[in-house]
Amino acid sequence: MAATSFIFGTVGSPLSTPKKPGGTIGGVARLAELKLGALELAWVQSVRVTLATCEAIRQAAHEAHISLSVHAPYYINLNAYADEWPKSRKRLMDAAYFGHQAGASDIAFHPGSYFAQSPAQVLQVAIPRLRACRDALDSMGVSAVLRPETMGKGAMLGSLEDVLALSAEIEGVEPCLDFAHLHARTGNGSGNSYAEWVAMLDRVAERLGEPALRRLHIHLSGIEYSEKGERKHLPLVQADLRYRDLLTALRDRGCAGRMLCESPILEEDALRLQRTWRRLTGHSALGPRATRTQN
Ligand SMILES: [Zn+2]
Repeated sequence: MAATSFIFGTVGSPLSTPKKPGGTIGGVARLAELKLGALELAWVQSVRVTLATCEAIRQAAHEAHISLSVHAPYYINLNAYADEWPKSRKRLMDAAYFGHQAGASDIAFHPGSYFAQSPAQVLQVAIPRLRACRDALDSMGVSAVLRPETMGKGAMLGSLEDVLALSAEIEGVEPCLDFAHLHARTGNGSGNSYAEWVAMLDRVAERLGEPALRRLHIHLSGIEYSEKGERKHLPLVQADLRYRDLLTALRDRGCAGRMLCESPILEEDALRLQRTWRRLTGHSALGPRATRTQN
């Protein structure tokens, strides 16, 4: 079933998650309380989880109607030197395998570094490696979509064109669009207007087909940057990102999917994005207002 709107959530458990039960299970419960709908498991240092924990997470999320994804470890590089690649590969494979066991439908990951090579050269290495990962996961019955993320620095594999190339070449690979990173990447303040966002979305549709716009996976936050690109994530109100215009572009192009907030005030900004989206689209979904009118 194609999504008709966005589900909003956080990367990592909300900051207001109570200490008990805490962790992912507590995070799922807290998101449901906040009337948010998605959690990205932040397995960003390593994947250290048992199958029993995965099953507990899967059940808790299912019962609370929270959609799950995984942020794979940072140290993955599709362009790693040959002797380093097996370690990178294992991190991605573990994130996907255990994520799938936990009920995650999507696995976001940082695709790697150019090492001063051209994007075309790097993609020649990255595409066959990622395709082999995808094939191995398919043969294990792991159906989670692999989502290479757009990255905030020009030295990193992860321009919009890079992630679209990976996605166009490999079935079961689709972009994770981090619009804050795309804005920071050039270091010159570009990627921050309605017209530029519409052009990006049109490019996604051109490369992957119009239906890809209905299953987007988006990361968003405010961002601080220099001429070299990303410095750090910021709360939306402290940053220059015109997120209302971005949401308007997404609305006007009929986009849908999941939007995960990575700002330092996680759930506060996730709720801000959800509120803004609902105001722009008239989607009330399961928000607090809908609950009140039932009473
Ligand atoms: Zn990321």
